[in-house]
Amino acid sequence: MSANQPPSYFPAPRRARFCSQCGSPVARRVPDGDNRERDLCDHCGAIHYQNPRMVVGTVPTWQGRVLLCRRAIEPRYDTWTLPAGFMELGESTAQGAERETLEESGARIALGQLYTVIDVPQVEQVHLFYLAEALGPELDPGPESLEARYFDEAEIPWSDLSFRTVATTLQRYFEDRRRGTFPTQHYTLDSRR
Ligand SMILES: [Zn+2]
Repeated sequence: MSANQPPSYFPAPRRARFCSQCGSPVARRVPDGDNRERDLCDHCGAIHYQNPRMVVGTVPTWQGRVLLCRRAIEPRYDTWTLPAGFMELGESTAQGAERETLEESGARIALGQLYTVIDVPQVEQVHLFYLAEALGPELDPGPESLEARYFDEAEIPWSDLSFRTVATTLQRYFEDRRRGTFPTQHYTLDSRR
């Protein structure tokens, strides 16, 4: 593997082939009393529900500049993103956003208000971004980032952003900053990525 090659990215598919409880093959059908297909285990009776995943992140700023991280992982290797990632079991959305920010950039932040709530049904996700103030300029990006740095609005690499939820959150952030007000915004993307 060359030094430039990102780590492989292979999350298990959503559809199960075998029951995670007993190892038997599962069947796809509508359970009694339900209204949509699930993966069912006829051996042990487990119903394997699947639900949307939460991606939590921040819009961290330091002296008016916005923190972006250049991804060292797929998908969207070598593009710029706000610090964000999948919420873990057992944490709150705010804790997850703060954790992801620290892991990806090393930035220590004071978390602000919830800013964008973005439904992305095509990829079965909901993305949440909080506003955040950095407590200092120091950055120490972790293994998921090639680089982390602060950008003035004029420097934002709009054509090289990782995800549309990042682009739309940044667009709205700069619009709201000019207006001087940051209402929480909820919207839906018919995302292709
Ligand atoms: Zn089973």
